[in-house]
Amino acid sequence: MGYKIIVKRAFFPLLFMIMCFCTALLSQSLYASENDANEVDGGQARPNEAHILFAARSIGNTSRTRLIMDFDRPVTYKSRLLDDPKRIVLQFPKVFFKLPNSKSALEQGIIRTFRYGAIDQKSSRIILNLQTPALIINEQMQELKDDKRFRVILDIESVDEELYQSKLQAQSTISSEPKEVVKNGVSAQFNEFSKEGRENILIILDPGHGGIDSGAKGKNLGNQVVVEKNITLSFAKILKSKLDDIQGIEVLLTRKSDEFITLSKRVAFAQANQADLFISIHADSLREHYIRGASIYTLSKKASDQLSERLAQSENMVDEVAGERPPNIAAVNDILSDLTTRETGIFSHSFARIVLTQFKGKINLIKNPLRSAGFHVLKAPGVPSILLELGYLSNHEDEKLLINSKWQSKVADYLVKSIQQHIRQAKPLP
Ligand SMILES: [Zn+2]
Repeated sequence: MGYKIIVKRAFFPLLFMIMCFCTALLSQSLYASENDANEVDGGQARPNEAHILFAARSIGNTSRTRLIMDFDRPVTYKSRLLDDPKRIVLQFPKVFFKLPNSKSALEQGIIRTFRYGAIDQKSSRIILNLQTPALIINEQMQELKDDKRFRVILDIESVDEELYQSKLQAQSTISSEPKEVVKNGVSAQFNEFSKEGRENILIILDPGHGGIDSGAKGKNLGNQVVVEKNITLSFAKILKSKLDDIQGIEVLLTRKSDEFITLSKRVAFAQANQADLFISIHADSLREHYIRGASIYTLSKKASDQLSERLAQSENMVDEVAGERPPNIAAVNDILSDLTTRETGIFSHSFARIVLTQFKGKINLIKNPLRSAGFHVLKAPGVPSILLELGYLSNHEDEKLLINSKWQSKVADYLVKSIQQHIRQAKPLP
């Protein structure tokens, strides 16, 4: 599995080997737990189905907080501590998270933020960001047969820094996770907790718009109304099916159907899964109807040009247009000043350049096809991200191409090549 290496791991082959070892340990126990559950349940077992977490809440204050989670059936998990920032990571078998959008019932007391997501086909995680150093001091599991639920209760208590560090150290005799890495003379926090249990490169494809937000509309094809949301989804599905054939690559979509998803949710999805690459797919409209061709955008505080600025502005408005609260755009600037994000930015640019090289001469490109602006959807910390405009629905010629599945398939082929090249370039030196 040495070649299945993620971008940052390229610099830490030894660390990666250690992680593989830990992964093996972890996955062993996870598989065991799933098998156990199947056997215990007998005929009622649903071996291929995820556990369902259908309710969760927390109560307490910053000295002691109780987290209560209700699953549909018995579940096992492992917990582990992480530093900078302080977190408790709960590793489960595959879980379907049926939780409400609002996390206010969960982010109480010691739990500053509650994040969750799939790690791979077989496992999921919950990540509790902590307000203060804290440890799980008590765990209970109750089978509530009448309610047909299985309850997991965790009591988390604030501890002093020294005790937290000593528990962390005790763990690191198994995991030996280094805290800091130095690259090009720049030191950066190594913060890739949710990648360690993964063998595959995880690519998240983000079909732009959806549901109530149709995105751009084509004008030029008579009776047929062409909408951006359909183009982005069909393209993402084509690209996914091609990537699925490649060993070592796993693909998740931010949406699989015609549904509305806020920008923040798309970002959170990339972040919770700690994707190795995030590609947001669009086919927007421009005032300048004569402009046509593909373009590749990365995140920047200041837009590379006016066109990009306008595009980012309208893209960042889609939540509001759909009646949702707008994302916190100011936060983009905070995030950009972060060291890790600067490093992520380098990988985003590098991937954008690879895409450009692959497209050149084969796919129509706009003038200066590499551009940047403050796109909210590209700001998942630690996740190299690009926004790809396949073309512009405001242009007649582009519109014809955008609805052509053969053309979509051709573009997808060059993106597959780009992704493979990106992975190859991230390979560690022998
Ligand atoms: Zn769009």
